[in-house]
Amino acid sequence: MAFNQKEYYKKIKNNPEYKLRRKGYNKKYYQKHKEQIKKRVKKYSQKNKRKVKECKKKYYEKHKNTPKYKLETKEYYQEHKEKIRKCNQERRGERKIYIKKWRRKNIEHIKIYNNKNKKRQNENNKKWLKTEKGKINSKKYNIKRRALKKKAKDTLTKKELKIIQDRDKKCIYCGTNKNLSFEHIISLKKGGENSFLNGVMACISCNSSKGDKDVFEWCKSKSYKVPKIVIKNLKLMEMTG
Ligand SMILES: [Zn+2]
Repeated sequence: MAFNQKEYYKKIKNNPEYKLRRKGYNKKYYQKHKEQIKKRVKKYSQKNKRKVKECKKKYYEKHKNTPKYKLETKEYYQEHKEKIRKCNQERRGERKIYIKKWRRKNIEHIKIYNNKNKKRQNENNKKWLKTEKGKINSKKYNIKRRALKKKAKDTLTKKELKIIQDRDKKCIYCGTNKNLSFEHIISLKKGGENSFLNGVMACISCNSSKGDKDVFEWCKSKSYKVPKIVIKNLKLMEMTG
């Protein structure tokens, strides 16, 4: 009987030994032609963006709960952490720009939509503002707006704001835990920045009483001891310029 390649392949293709060997060959082939293959794949996926996306999605849906997939993605993430983070950041930036453009283009459409859904949006907003995340978000937004108004440099992140809030559970000047607000050690008007180092929590009464005054002079006038955190942060701000 003559040798039939097809028949032979059918017989052998599920043989584990053969599979392993095959895998080895493929790996070797890949290592040898890496650049070429990468180029080809890139070209193909650029040409067939939608198709590739759907395919990836299908694959993900099918495998997302298998332990192998979980382990692989975890390992991949650990290995390429920096790259992934950078890529995500870039994408977020691009998306923001895209959304901005889209909004500008569709002002009328958005107006009509908003008018239609005002009530529901308001209710959702109220609910959102009651959550932990919503609270910190709106606070950050208000502080940011104030900083922008005074043209101060703004580097404070939501995470940092939360750290400050968790650190200063009381007014750092008078010690009350009621009506706490975000206070700038060096006021924005006097050139202070909206930053982690320049931020502390103080009660509204102390905050408005201090206003744009120098923190040392104001503490003296109130016979408060200058808080340690103020001294520490002023030093750090001086060091970092
Ligand atoms: Zn106070």
